Amino acid sequence: KLSDRLQTVASFVKPNSRIADIGSDHAYLPVFLARNEQIQFAIAGEVAKGPHENATHEILQQDVKNLVSSRLGNGLDVVTAEDQINTISIAGMGGTLISQILERGKNKLQGVSNLILQPNVGENGVRKWLMQNNYRITAERILKEDHHIYEIIVAENKPAPTYSEKELLFGPKLLQILPNAIFQEKWLAELQRIKNAIAQMKQAQVIPKKRISKLKHKADLIKEVLDFED
Ligand code: SAM
Repeated sequence: KLSDRLQTVASFVKPNSRIADIGSDHAYLPVFLARNEQIQFAIAGEVAKGPHENATHEILQQDVKNLVSSRLGNGLDVVTAEDQINTISIAGMGGTLISQILERGKNKLQGVSNLILQPNVGENGVRKWLMQNNYRITAERILKEDHHIYEIIVAENKPAPTYSEKELLFGPKLLQILPNAIFQEKWLAELQRIKNAIAQMKQAQVIPKKRISKLKHKADLIKEVLDFED
């Protein structure tokens, strides 16, 4: 059974898509999509040999090799024009890496109308990249599984509005579903981390003023969004 996290990613894949799942590891997502008859074609891209072998094995075992192609390569290098990919998913890695993969593979994005991204951290950097590269955020989800909180960002290749600092940090679509218990839990934990970090720096008598004022600013944004005073 697919994790709730990957099932949520899958729920945003439009019928008959041609999808490249980058950093696919076991290829669970494309295999699920193929078995569900949700796609026309998928690439399971992997940069590492072990995960690539896992993907190849899973695709054979689940009998979907007519629909899912297992490819070894860095980021979007595995995508060619003949594949006619219109959707890219990248899940389960840091936001910085996701943005780097998209940036490095920009020339492969021409026909790609849909991006489904699930950064483990650093969501704001991903949103910034989307905004700067003509992808508009059309949906976002936040969910908790196995004690982790995950965000999923869905974008379409359309002119994007200028997102505010707050929208980049918290998510323009997630801000619209508040109050939300998981969102609250995530940002309360982040607030606590900021408080601890500042306290530790003060205790160690290293007081990098710039860093502290940045952290305080972030804490203020969190308090504003969670709508409380302290
Ligand atoms: N996408 C799956 C998921 O969400 O469950 C697997 C996530 S796994 C934690 C991250 C995978 O990304 C690893 O298998 C790693 O080898 C792969 N990866 C990291 N950088 C990559 C890159 N530049 N190109 C392709 N794959 C990459």
